[in-house]
Amino acid sequence: MIAAALVVAAGSGERLGAAEPKALVACGGKPLVSWSLAALAAVPQITQIVVALPPGVDPGVLPSGVTAVVGGAERSHSVRAALAAVEGEPDLVLVHDAARPLITAEEIARVLQAAAQPGVDGAVAAAPVSDTIKAIGPDGVTVLRTLERGALVAVQTPQVFRRSVLERVLEQPDTIVGAATDDASLVEVAGGTVVVVPTSPENLKVTTPLDLQLAELLLRQRSAAT
Ligand code: C5P
Repeated sequence: MIAAALVVAAGSGERLGAAEPKALVACGGKPLVSWSLAALAAVPQITQIVVALPPGVDPGVLPSGVTAVVGGAERSHSVRAALAAVEGEPDLVLVHDAARPLITAEEIARVLQAAAQPGVDGAVAAAPVSDTIKAIGPDGVTVLRTLERGALVAVQTPQVFRRSVLERVLEQPDTIVGAATDDASLVEVAGGTVVVVPTSPENLKVTTPLDLQLAELLLRQRSAAT
């Protein structure tokens, strides 16, 4: 089984409040995106890594051997741009947020393995939910109902798909593709079978300055332990 990895790093990181794009913000002594690239490079099934960067960023910031493309307006547009640069015919395509620096090669390998099972179109990293989650109405304050926590998971990346399945869902019109906050949701709506793979809650997405501090602490602890 051969896979290509798409790393989406084209977000501005507005909520982080940094002067530079989020993927390039220093975390644990190197740019945020570097951690994910190192974990992906350690997985033998991954034969190509494509990174979607914000417009105007010099691809020279990336390690050699990594393919750079310019990302799009929304996350899914960046996934589409990166997919277009995949060479050869990998069986699987993995999508990962550059904003999740704590992913490990072991977790990546498990998600790839789950996606390669017969009858599966996609596999996504997911952690248990610790908060009670409520659905609210259009006014933004009125609670409609409380969801059953045992039936919920918090979905992360990597998300891995059969290449043909991801290609097909991303061919849909820009408005549909652009509204998707993850790729698996497009596959689910199209009737595909998506399974979850348990991963650590440490695989957090760096969104706010607090997330960045936490990621930095966890990465430094890991480095100290090896
Ligand atoms: O904005 P958010 O944190 O949800 O973004 C998740 C990931 O998608 C980040 O790694 C970000 O760089 C990427 N992204 C992108 N292109 C966009 C928006 C987000 O590659 N237009």
